[in-house]
Amino acid sequence: MRAGAICGIPNDVRILSVAAPDVGPDDVIVTPKRVGLCMTNVKMARYGYYAIDQRGLPFIEGHEVAGEVVAVGRNVSEYRTGDRVVVYVYVPCHNCHFCRKGHPTMCENFILGGIYPGGWAERVKVSREDDFSRRLHKIADGISYDDAAMLEPLSCVVHSIDRAGPRLGEKVIVIGAGFMGLLHSALLARYPLDLNLSVDLSEFRLKYARRAGASHVLRNEGEDQVIEQVMEITAGYGADLVFEVTGSVQAYNLAVKLLGKGGRALFFGGTPSADPMHVNPRALHYDMLQLIGVQSAEDQHVARAMNLINTGSVGFQGLITHRFTMEQLHEAILFPQDADKREQMVKAMVHGFDSEIVAG
Ligand SMILES: [Zn+2]
Ligand SMILES: [Zn+2]
Repeated sequence: MRAGAICGIPNDVRILSVAAPDVGPDDVIVTPKRVGLCMTNVKMARYGYYAIDQRGLPFIEGHEVAGEVVAVGRNVSEYRTGDRVVVYVYVPCHNCHFCRKGHPTMCENFILGGIYPGGWAERVKVSREDDFSRRLHKIADGISYDDAAMLEPLSCVVHSIDRAGPRLGEKVIVIGAGFMGLLHSALLARYPLDLNLSVDLSEFRLKYARRAGASHVLRNEGEDQVIEQVMEITAGYGADLVFEVTGSVQAYNLAVKLLGKGGRALFFGGTPSADPMHVNPRALHYDMLQLIGVQSAEDQHVARAMNLINTGSVGFQGLITHRFTMEQLHEAILFPQDADKREQMVKAMVHGFDSEIVAG
């Protein structure tokens, strides 16, 4: 079968011919129809990634996967050929040191316990021992593969918002109106907040933030200007809660500066470098700031995100700005590495092998 793979760093992405999975008695085989292009994929291909260090090259990734069941083993009664499912590639093992300590997204077996080859392959095999109930989520009638493929990113955002715990009447800011930032704005719009402000460098993306449900938008024209405007909007008190959803160290620093006393900042975006951020220790202590990290999603977030998708509760309409075929995976990965192109992109969807590019 064919499979897209990262074959070398940086950006050596190719279509390989690899052995197709056999169908054992306890296996389900899925043909991916849609695989979301995740910015983590772009980072992986460009800079390398711990998952590649663990798994080695070539690396057949693709973790935002919705597809059709095309074969089931004779012992499988839970799924049938023709079922539409989301394949959840990485789940915690619930058995390692960190899982047992209550940090399942730090699971030591996350990557090697993942479904492999992932969604970039023509066929994906999920076995009963992988735990069907956590790996294969049925898509409700009337819900598109496009929307269903949003499960993994949406789960991460459910986790992020859970960890930050927005409270009634708070003033909340989301820095970054890329796809993940927009999902934050969209879910936060469901809370009775006093402010749901989206901050971004790009006017283009801020248009989407309004549509996603941000109550206010602010174009970032420089740190001082953003701080000044936020102080004005918050009557000089600063924000109660700031989400950083860009993965840049400048935005990490900005997030802290926008906080009022007693505020909390949630850092969602992974930075490509380990450049340090600057935090005034006096503010941490005297202002009782809380700086909170978040990574990936736990089972409960996946379950709730799947409910939101299956009930059509999150409007993803219009967020897919670019589509590629799996044969164009290399092009898809290079595309957002061009800053000008990235500026015009919200979410890119890769269509599975032999799927025509027809939206829906
Ligand atoms: Zn992702
Ligand atoms: Zn674990």
